[in-house]
Amino acid sequence: MPDKPVALVTGANQGIGLQIAKDLVTHGFTVLVGSRDLGRGEAAAKEIGPGAIALQLDVTDHASVAAAAARIQGEFGRLDLLIQNAAISNTGLQPGMSIEEYSKSTRPSVVSLAEMRAVWDTNVFGVLAVYQAMLPLLRASPVSRIVNVSSGVGSLTINSDPAFHYRAIFSPVYSASKTALNAITVAMAIELEPEGIKVSAVSPGYTKTNLNGYQGTETLEEGAREAVRVALLGRDGPTGAFTRWQGETIPW
Ligand code: NAP
Repeated sequence: MPDKPVALVTGANQGIGLQIAKDLVTHGFTVLVGSRDLGRGEAAAKEIGPGAIALQLDVTDHASVAAAAARIQGEFGRLDLLIQNAAISNTGLQPGMSIEEYSKSTRPSVVSLAEMRAVWDTNVFGVLAVYQAMLPLLRASPVSRIVNVSSGVGSLTINSDPAFHYRAIFSPVYSASKTALNAITVAMAIELEPEGIKVSAVSPGYTKTNLNGYQGTETLEEGAREAVRVALLGRDGPTGAFTRWQGETIPW
């Protein structure tokens, strides 16, 4: 068995995932840099330096997910950490459409089911597909953990509060995909509790990335830190938690 712990970060070729991969290498992990475009994954791995290895992985493509799991099995025989970070917020705004207009177009009464399915395919079904493929590898590790990168926008409790300023943008597309991700995080944590494999959801906060047209206010370092903090919690760390930076609990 390799001495260094082995981590897989999905969607690690840019944004928060790339920063998480950098931070994990600094903490002594061998990091598999998941990227749906192998060339971009290789560029990211080169930028990170020794300890980072590009891995082609499109979470919506069954063959890609299976091939990634087979490669990890062949090269490492186990996985100590799985960070499910890959996500999309939409399938591409129409030319000239503002964020406000897009937001109105995703209200439940008018939302495109095709748009919703496409986002959920990545953010929800993709996460479950990667979980199923990687679980045998996580089970082969003496201590393993899963961190699902969610968002506070998926919190039903927060969005049910009439005083919450941003509840008008709670939509069946991105926001509810994170609500569903939270739900399957709880299901995974319950399933794996008897085996001691920890599963948590984290929220990075509003971070300046491609996902929001670089409108976010947090830096990549700030966006990555809760996922990394939770990833480094040892065998005794909690499971089934939903937190933001400093372990602050977010209501489901
Ligand atoms: P980002 O810069 O757009 O990065 C998203 C990553 O996911 C990219 O590497 C992207 O690959 C990848 N991805 C998308 N679809 C994929 C697929 N089918 N298979 C594999 N990879 C795929 O966005 P980010 O802000 O860093 O987002 C990272 C995570 O943080 C997401 O889960 C997001 O929901 C969450 N989050 C972000 C914020 C924020 O303010 N930024 C707030 C709360 C939660 P490509 O480069 O090929 O597109």
